[in-house]
Amino acid sequence: MKIGTMLKDVSLAFIHRPVTERYPYTRQATPERLRGRLQWDPEKCIGCELCAMDCPSGAIDLMVLDKKAKRFVFCYHLDRCTFCAQCVQSCRHGCLELSADDWELASLSREAFTLYYGEDKDVREALAGTASPDGSGPSNS
Ligand code: SF4
Ligand code: SF4
Repeated sequence: MKIGTMLKDVSLAFIHRPVTERYPYTRQATPERLRGRLQWDPEKCIGCELCAMDCPSGAIDLMVLDKKAKRFVFCYHLDRCTFCAQCVQSCRHGCLELSADDWELASLSREAFTLYYGEDKDVREALAGTASPDGSGPSNS
């Protein structure tokens, strides 16, 4: 590089602000189509499990406690998810969305990568192993 060009670049660097962003102190709006953490709407879910069957990464487990009463626990393995959006396509009831706003997903804890969506009592019951694989949970009887 010529000395003149170098001096010009150095002096420009003093005049112009750096192009780097001071993240996380300043944040830009995320693009609308960014694929962040998967969100699940329990109101619309019918427990068909198509999302779990079609997920190529095995990132979804739907635990069915009581299908009639729509008591489901949606287990999402964030660390397996490739954000391909196949589950969003497969769900015929519009329950799933990859949030453009929820994308800061790093964690030092492994537990943070297994998420349970659902009512607290249902999550506790599912984790205690009382959900039946055929959907005939204890409250069905
Ligand atoms: S976005 Fe893809 S990898 Fe992630 S849960 Fe949905 S289907 Fe599975
Ligand atoms: S595909 Fe949709 S309706 Fe079916 S279990 Fe998944 S989220 Fe629920």
